[in-house]
Amino acid sequence: MALPDTLRLDGQTALVTGASSGIGQAAAIALAEAGADVAINYRSSLDGARETLSRVTALGVRGTLIQGDVASQDDVIAMFDAAQAQFGPLDIVFSNAGRQKDGPIADMSLDDWNAVISVNLTGAFLTAREAIRRFRAKGLRPEVSRAAGKLIFNSSVHQRIPWAFRANYAASKGGLKLLMESLSQEVAQERIRINAVAPGAIATAINEAERDSDGGEAEMLKLIPYGRIGTPEDVGRAVAWLASDASDYVVGTTLFVDGGMSLYPEFRGNG
Ligand code: NAD
Repeated sequence: MALPDTLRLDGQTALVTGASSGIGQAAAIALAEAGADVAINYRSSLDGARETLSRVTALGVRGTLIQGDVASQDDVIAMFDAAQAQFGPLDIVFSNAGRQKDGPIADMSLDDWNAVISVNLTGAFLTAREAIRRFRAKGLRPEVSRAAGKLIFNSSVHQRIPWAFRANYAASKGGLKLLMESLSQEVAQERIRINAVAPGAIATAINEAERDSDGGEAEMLKLIPYGRIGTPEDVGRAVAWLASDASDYVVGTTLFVDGGMSLYPEFRGNG
């Protein structure tokens, strides 16, 4: 079934960080399905990135691979330069790259803390700053979109729900919430739209060990009123919507894609 025009992204260019797997890969494909050319950033998994590329180009749009670490200022600038050299100015950026390094607080080393904050929060800052600079330089292209640029962060339900033994991760996503909202407030008048998706439990590599552990999936399902683990495609479609003119009046919002996980399901029938 053809997408309505407001959901189409034809003639637009997108960059997705951490697009060699999971939600980043699914979002790259969803953006391509809507007609955008997609620059696929990866850090180390060239095989995964190649898979994303072949699935993107099979949809009839252009794709390109860009290696780079989002925690490195030089890499992020080079990543935007490379994307722009291939496709021209970017219209859409999905800041998705993220990681976990769990542990009880007394055993959490400074390295474990920094590993997560440097990717999930500093990486998001570096990506966002560069996206805003480039959207500003480009300005509006009314023939392709009502906004001068669309920046979407990948946050988490843990921007709201505390998460014991993962204080570094929850702190990074809590920080990301106010980074997103503050930047949105700062640049919305330039018609730069900034929003976030907040996934719940989505079946990807990041939580594979937890899902595969004895009873792990059943424990997760207790926290999901909708009764199923999410798929990367569930989030990819939300990202494509936030990138499109169908969401043109959505500014500084977090879209929870979590099957109801953030509804405090433990309180069901026990208020
Ligand atoms: P994933 O492990 O498949 O994807 C993470 C991606 O980020 C990988 O491709 C990885 O290579 C990349 N990455 C990590 N460090 C990087 C760096 N320094 N530079 C560039 N890329 C880097 O897992 P995922 O679940 O798809 O995670 C994607 C995002 O979704 C993360 O930000 C994560 O916090 C968020 N998220 C996931 C879930 C979930 O349940 N899966 C829930 C909420 C939020």
